[in-house]
Amino acid sequence: MDVSIFVETTFDDGETKRRNIGRLRRAPDELDSENLGLFLDDAKSLLRGLQEAIVQDQVGEAIEARRKCVSCAKQRAIHDDRGRILDTLFGRIQVKWPRLRRCMCQPVGIAKSGPQSPLAGLFSDRATPELRRLQAELGARHSFREAARLIELFLPCSGQSNTTVRNRLGRVADELGQGDAGTIAPRSSLTVFLDGAHIRCRPEYQKRHLDVVVGKVESANLSRRFGLVQQAANSPAKHLRHDLIAQGWDGQSKVTVISDGEPSLPNLVRRAVRGPVTHILDWWHISMRVKHIENAVRGLLQSRGFSGLLLLFERPADSLRWYLWHGKAMTAATILKVLQIDCDRLHTETRELREAAKRVRARCQDLYSYLANHFDALVDYGHRHRNGLAVSSSRAEGCVDDIGNTRMGKRRRMRWSPRGAHRVAVTRAAVLDGRLGVSKQAA
Ligand SMILES: [Zn+2]
Repeated sequence: MDVSIFVETTFDDGETKRRNIGRLRRAPDELDSENLGLFLDDAKSLLRGLQEAIVQDQVGEAIEARRKCVSCAKQRAIHDDRGRILDTLFGRIQVKWPRLRRCMCQPVGIAKSGPQSPLAGLFSDRATPELRRLQAELGARHSFREAARLIELFLPCSGQSNTTVRNRLGRVADELGQGDAGTIAPRSSLTVFLDGAHIRCRPEYQKRHLDVVVGKVESANLSRRFGLVQQAANSPAKHLRHDLIAQGWDGQSKVTVISDGEPSLPNLVRRAVRGPVTHILDWWHISMRVKHIENAVRGLLQSRGFSGLLLLFERPADSLRWYLWHGKAMTAATILKVLQIDCDRLHTETRELREAAKRVRARCQDLYSYLANHFDALVDYGHRHRNGLAVSSSRAEGCVDDIGNTRMGKRRRMRWSPRGAHRVAVTRAAVLDGRLGVSKQAA
């Protein structure tokens, strides 16, 4: 059999246009599993033909409608007709893109002000927004080369390369940073969870690693991811402020930051808020250090030749966690000091015992300085927890993987410039939140 595919357009003025966009031949004796229906190549070529027909008719009709002068309804003359290349998901299309002369009925100043393109500014980047979003989304999910390959595999669009995808993603990322934030839920207090991901840096930047700041902004019932590279964003604090406002922050309400000890992270939020924020030291990072002490003490007690008072070590190690969890940092600090002193007093005849005592002392000192450096950021974690408030930045740690490591982690063997990494981080956060809106259903 022969299959012919026609497109019929009926314009608003009643005129119709019909054209053949493809023909398929399927011989009756050729039917087998490899030869049923449409092939990917057939489908791509049909889609390309269909897109060409629709775009040409749509642009043609729109220009005709705009030729009519709004004041006197006369047809305006075409000044020139240079045509333009437009990239779409379904092919690269050369469309008519005429410039129209001004109507003579207009005042002299306007009439002489030169021709005007009725479709000017419609397509930034000479591509449809849908194609740009798809390039950005796939570029944020896969390597640029792989993204280009995937798009080309399934769609009849123009040839894709890693640089096309990278550049499009870059421009989409820049627009994401500038876009109107659009406040959703005003006057709610926010919690910002912050963490950092380390990725390989390109050699010309004179350092091995780049820090990507990743995290989440949460209000009562909404959350929004973000990612940025401080060196690359021209104002990282402004960037974060944008995210806060988008999440319903009104410029006044309380902002709480939960992060580990890295001081640059809460400082970034302070600059974004332009005022004080409540910084809470992440419970998980404290808990890990307590765990180290517990293990070291257990190791000491089990060491051969331990002759000290068991209780002297066992009990403080057990109560340390409880005091910290309930915000009794001073008591915890005293316990740490006492543990260190008791280690010093221990009769350590064997080498094993000496090593074990040394380990306990070092772990205690480690936690002691950690707490001392962040004394202001210690709170009653138990109280917060009982009131349903977050005590840990573990939610930001999910973002470290989602935004940083999966696409840019060290295992991917790619090296990044600050700007490139920043753009991918911004786009990935938007993709994971579903803010890019590749398909209309998702939006
Ligand atoms: Zn006119």
